Amino acid sequence: MAEVIPPRSGVAFELRRGQRLRVVDPEGEQVADLLAYNREDIGEVISSGRSLDYASSIFLSTGDALYSNRSRVMLRIAEDEVGRHDFLLTPCSAEMFRIIYGETQPHRGCFGNLAEALAPWGVRADDIPTAFNVFMNVRVDGDSGKLRVDPPLSRAGDSTTFVAEMDLVIGLTACSAGQSNNFRYKPIHYEILDGG
Ligand SMILES: [Zn+2]
Repeated sequence: MAEVIPPRSGVAFELRRGQRLRVVDPEGEQVADLLAYNREDIGEVISSGRSLDYASSIFLSTGDALYSNRSRVMLRIAEDEVGRHDFLLTPCSAEMFRIIYGETQPHRGCFGNLAEALAPWGVRADDIPTAFNVFMNVRVDGDSGKLRVDPPLSRAGDSTTFVAEMDLVIGLTACSAGQSNNFRYKPIHYEILDGG
């Protein structure tokens, strides 16, 4: 039975080594920001820079590993029905909505949602790095380096499944940024599956 993350919110939970996390886009074109911390030492955290470096690619999919800042594998992508995710951009935040969207009363975004959800494990806002943005579709012009955020390629019911390679604390959101979900804020579903 899938858990539901309501629109523009986030959750945190523990994921044991060997368990699988299935992230589902129930309605299509929604993004889920994913963070991972070592359950035993939250100073060890998911690292975009190391993961992209070791994969020699900015696009990760089935079989690719999400590394920590200590170069250990935290999660591996076990199954991927979408095949396009982002690992370049930081979680959306009140500051981002101000700077890019010009909003004067901005939502706290995935950043604020993650900070609140992860606080019980001792994670501070300053400990939040670039998230693995499940289903986020960031197009990159290879020559100019220009980025463009397009609607996700995920369709209703599509999922991506990760397997934990260490005991983890996970942060997961239903993204609050209009650009990343075609300006229709939607929920995200997830399931924790044992073994396999
Ligand atoms: Zn977001």
